[in-house]
Amino acid sequence: MREKLRKLCDTYGVELLENVPLSEHTTFRIGGTADFWAEINSSSTISALVRLCRENAYPYFVLGRGSNILASDAGYRGIILHLGNQFANIGFKDAHTMTCEAGATLVKAAKTAEKFSQTGMEGLSGIPGTIGGALYMNAGAYGYEMSQIVSSCTYMDENGEIKQLRASDLALSYRQSWFTLHPGNVILTVTVKLQDGDRAEISEKMRDFLKRRNDKQPLDFPSAGSTFKRPEGNYASALIDQCGLKGYTVGGAQVSEKHAGFVINREGATCADVMQLCADVKRIVQEKTGYILEMEPIILGDSAGK
Ligand SMILES: Cc1cc2nc3c(=O)[nH]c(=O)nc-3n(C[C@H](O)[C@H](O)[C@H](O)COP(=O)(O)OP(=O)(O)OC[C@H]3O[C@@H](n4cnc5c(N)ncnc54)[C@H](O)[C@@H]3O)c2cc1C
Repeated sequence: MREKLRKLCDTYGVELLENVPLSEHTTFRIGGTADFWAEINSSSTISALVRLCRENAYPYFVLGRGSNILASDAGYRGIILHLGNQFANIGFKDAHTMTCEAGATLVKAAKTAEKFSQTGMEGLSGIPGTIGGALYMNAGAYGYEMSQIVSSCTYMDENGEIKQLRASDLALSYRQSWFTLHPGNVILTVTVKLQDGDRAEISEKMRDFLKRRNDKQPLDFPSAGSTFKRPEGNYASALIDQCGLKGYTVGGAQVSEKHAGFVINREGATCADVMQLCADVKRIVQEKTGYILEMEPIILGDSAGK
């Protein structure tokens, strides 16, 4: 497969990297090496690579900013398609309709909306991912969620063809989308519908939400954000706190003392540490409260890196 990938990447002017440490590309700072890595800056390159992988039954995985990923210690026996900085343009179709290429960060998208006095993204502005990753996960915070603003998206299907989905087809629900149900498709652009707002108010809200993050979240340690989904009728962090699990540690992984909803990489944590810690937390929370917690981060690679 190496030669086929190399030939295709040469044709498209893409640098093909080998044995890339996933720990350097995930906010958890955990993970072994991916066999191959290509930074993608055009949809034609994605199409060609996806087709090549499909024809050869070779695994590929789309990575944004790696901010919701727990990568296996064994790494990944496939190719990572990383949407690069050149795949991050943002433009307005009309005063309220903003289209973002999937590699644009939420920070950039929210700041662009702010610049044009458009409201709707303030609460999303501090989430450290791309707009593609945010649509995939239906990311949300402080009462804001991608589902409230997305009007449509384009994506590359597994045959390398560009398709479009409207909001009503995106099956957006809590941390889920049509894409979580159909992995293998690559989100190319996301169009959001915003509303006229007061620029000073938008800026003030964004500052306030950022301050709340800084005050409440353990941002000085690597993590993937909230480690458990919110169970129906309660909060994972409240349940974990209630069970006395703040500070609970397995190897280098720890339930944050500052925010019980975050598992942090305290020092040199492995994926196995995090998985063990999460299994313990889930068991104890279920025993003591009856609630069943579910992990939020996407697991990349299994114990054999497959
Ligand atoms: C400190 C911190 C705070 C956080 N706070 C929040 C929060 O408040 N709310 C919240 O919802 N999340 C939060 N997160 C989690 C994370 O930032 C979001 O889920 C984010 O949307 C993930 O985007 P990403 O680009 O990093 O995606 P990645 O983590 O790289 O990928 C996540 C998933 O999306 C898929 N994906 C990414 N891009 C594409 C694409 N173009 N096409 C197809 N699939 C794609 C990947 O394959 C993977 O399955 C936080 C994380 C951290 C570290």
